[in-house]
Parts: sequence; structure tokens; C-alpha cells
Amino acid sequence: MEFTGGCVCGGTRYMLKSRPVALVDCHCIDCRRSAGAPHVAWGSVPRQDLVVTKGEPRKIAYANRIRSFATCCGTHLFFEDNKDSDAIDVTIASLDDPAPFAPQKAIWLEDKLPWVVIDESIPSFPKTPKIS
Ligand SMILES: [Zn+2]
Ligand SMILES: [Zn+2]
Repeated sequence: MEFTGGCVCGGTRYMLKSRPVALVDCHCIDCRRSAGAPHVAWGSVPRQDLVVTKGEPRKIAYANRIRSFATCCGTHLFFEDNKDSDAIDVTIASLDDPAPFAPQKAIWLEDKLPWVVIDESIPSFPKTPKIS
């Protein structure tokens, strides 16, 4: 099974060789600012299952994490804890078909904007919950 995605202009494209898991909606201020959005939906894949098929994302180290953006147009694409982490997170909204990947948790509610209404049907956490 493969899942494809990319940036807004089409200059950067990627492919996932497995289904993204650990689906979260992150309200932290860093995700917010990075994406220019009130919260960001993420899914995680093993590092080797992410293949950039077009373009070369620009990696930005910030707050001890690495965020990747399309060099062509700036779309926020990936997140990794460090360059050797086993998993890499993908912005669900950059997938060609994000519809099947609804968040299972909301995290970093501590930073949530007052006008964002969270989905009460999924668990939420003040910060990042312990990895299960
Ligand atoms: Zn682009
Ligand atoms: Zn975040």
C-alpha cells in the first residue's frame, strides 16, 4: 500500500510505503507557527517508509527538533525528533488523500487557541502523552 502527497505547488512530492499511524492533532505553538495554522494533524511512519520522489525539502532545526519544508513553496511537510529518529511525522493535510486519517488524539492543549473547538470524542492531552 502506498500513500502519496506533496506541497501546494507540486514541486515537492513524497510517497509513504506504509500507512501513517499515531495520528494526532497538535496544538503546540511551534507547529502552529510553522504551518501558519491553528493546529496541525500529524501521522507517523518508519523513517525508511518515507521516500521523497520530487524536490528536496529544506530542513530547519528548531527547538531541538527538525522540521522539513518544501524548498519550492514552503509547505510544511515533515517533522523528526532528530536526524536518526526511527520515525518521521508527516503533515496529514499534505497527503493527496488525507480523508482516511482523522486524528485519534489532540495534544498540546496547553497551547490551544481559545477559539479552537476540540473534538470531545477523542482523548486530549495538555502536552505530549507518553508513547504507547
Ligand atoms: Zn512546492
Ligand atoms: Zn506540535
